[in-house]
Amino acid sequence: APGEHNLAVLAEASYAKHGDYPMIFFEGEWHTSTSIAERSARVAGGLRGLGIEPGDRVVVLTMNTPEVFVSYRALWRLGAVVTPVIFLQTPPELRHILEDSGAAAAIVTPELLPLVQAASEGLGLTVIVAGDTPEGEGLVAYESLESADPIEIAPRGDDDLAALLYTGGTTGRAKGVMLSHRGLWESGHALHRVGESQGTTRWLLPLPLSHAYGLIVVISGMHASRPQSSVLQRWFDAKGWLELAQEHRIEASTVVPSMLQMLLDQPYQDYDLGSLRSFGSGGAPLLPALREKVEEAFGVTILEGYGCTESSAVIAASSIEESRPGSVGKPLSHAEVIIAGPSGEPLPAGEEGEIWVRGPGVMQGYWNDPEQTAATLVDGWLHTGDIGHFDDDGYLYVDDRIKDLIIRGGFNVFPRDVEDALLAHEAVTAAAVVGRPDTKSGEEVVAVVALHPGAQATPEELIAFAKTRLAPHKYPREVLILDAVPVTSVGKTDRKAVRSMVRTNQGES
Ligand code: ATP
Repeated sequence: APGEHNLAVLAEASYAKHGDYPMIFFEGEWHTSTSIAERSARVAGGLRGLGIEPGDRVVVLTMNTPEVFVSYRALWRLGAVVTPVIFLQTPPELRHILEDSGAAAAIVTPELLPLVQAASEGLGLTVIVAGDTPEGEGLVAYESLESADPIEIAPRGDDDLAALLYTGGTTGRAKGVMLSHRGLWESGHALHRVGESQGTTRWLLPLPLSHAYGLIVVISGMHASRPQSSVLQRWFDAKGWLELAQEHRIEASTVVPSMLQMLLDQPYQDYDLGSLRSFGSGGAPLLPALREKVEEAFGVTILEGYGCTESSAVIAASSIEESRPGSVGKPLSHAEVIIAGPSGEPLPAGEEGEIWVRGPGVMQGYWNDPEQTAATLVDGWLHTGDIGHFDDDGYLYVDDRIKDLIIRGGFNVFPRDVEDALLAHEAVTAAAVVGRPDTKSGEEVVAVVALHPGAQATPEELIAFAKTRLAPHKYPREVLILDAVPVTSVGKTDRKAVRSMVRTNQGES
C-alpha cells in the first residue's frame, strides 16, 4: 500500500504549502522552489526514460549543487533509491560501492567524471553528468533529462527503501545502510521540531549533502512551517563561508566541529555577522573548549546534536530552550534511547554504558550483510558503538566510541578527555589521541597536535601541560606536532591515519 511517509509526497506538500520563493542560492544565482519542483518532476521522467525503475539504486556523486536537491526529489518521485556518495573516494572504494549496491546509474558533476569512469570500468554503468558533458559511451547529459515529460509520484510503502548510505570506510569495507521512507521522514520531522522555535529561515549549508547529516538537513527543511532559503557551498572553505554569511545575513549554519575551528582561524572580526544566531554542530565530538571559544567569538549559541548513519542521522539534539554544554541534548521525539550495561540492562542516570536506540529512524539493516546487521541490530535496538550517559535531567552525553577507548595498564582512557586537555593550551588548534600498542602498559597514550598559525610549543611543554590537568594514567607520553591533524571527508579525526602515523613515528617526537 502507498505509505503515508513518502518523501516525494513530502517534497510536493512543502512546495504546495509555500509556493514560489527563493530556495537555493548557489554560486551567484538564486533557484526558486518552483524551478526545483518542476525540474525534479522532469528529471524523474528522464530517469524513467533511461530505464531506471522503482527500487533501483542510483548513485549521486556530486559537490553541493542545486542538482543534489533536484536529483533527490526526482529519484524519490520515481521510487528509486538515493545512494549518495561523498566524492573523496579512491577508485577501488567507489567501485566497491557501485558493485555492492548494484547501482543502475550514477549522477555526477563534471569534475568527478574521471573518478567514476576509473571506478566503473566494465560495469556498464549509465553516467549522468550535471554540467558540461563530453561525448562518450554510457554518458548522458543531465540537461537532456530535464526536457523529458514530468511524471507522477510512484507509490512507495513506508518501509520501502529511500536511501542507501555507505559508511564505515575509515574502519573497514564500507557497508550500505538501508534507510526507509518512513525512517527518514520521521527523523527529518523530529529534527525540524527541535529547531522550530528558533524561527530560522536563512541557512548556510557547507556540509556535504551526500552525508547522512546533510541528507537529514535537506529532509528536515521539507517539513518546515516557513519557507527556508539555503545558501550552498560547493565545498566548505572558511573564507568563503564568512563572505556568504555576511552577504546573505545568514541566521544559522549546520557544521561539523572541524569547520568551527577553521572559522576561528580566520580574521572573522572583519565580517559583519550580526544576523548569525546559531550553529548546529554534529557528526563528531564538539570539545567544550572549542564550543566556548566559538560562542564567545561569534556571539552565537551552538546547538549540538548526535546521531549516526544507522539512525537516519539523528538521535538527540539540543534546542534553544534545552541545551547544556557538553551534552548533545535530549533524545528526539522519534527515538527511544537507553544506556545499556554489560548484559543489555538499562543503566541509571550518571552511569556510562553503550548508547542503544530504537524507533522508526533506525536502519533496516546493512545491504547484503546479514552478519553485520545481526551484530548491530538486536531486537530492534541499534547498538551505536558509542559510550555515553544521561544526567539526572535526561540530557545525553556522548563520552567516546567503544573502539577508540584506550586501555593503559588496565585503566580506561577516553581519547576525548586527553584531547580536551591539550586543546586548552593556547597554542593548540587541533589534537587527536590514540593508543599505541606497548609491551609494558598494553597501550600507550600518544597525541598528535597541530598548532595555531604562528604559535610555538614543544612536545615536552605540551606533555607537561597535559600532566597538570589529567590523572597519571591519562596524560600523553608522547606528542607529535604536525601541520594538520588528519581528518576524514566529513571533518572527523581520521583515527586510522593517526594510529598508523604514531606507529611509524615510534621513538621520535
Ligand atoms: P566511519 O566508520 O566511516 O568513520 P562513522 O561511523 O563515523 O563512519 P557516521 O555514521 O557518520 O559514520 O558517524 C556516526 C558517529 O559519529 C557516531 O556513532 C558518533 O561516534 C560520532 N558522533 C556523531 N555526533 C557526535 C557528537 N555530537 N558527539 C560525539 N560523537 C558524535
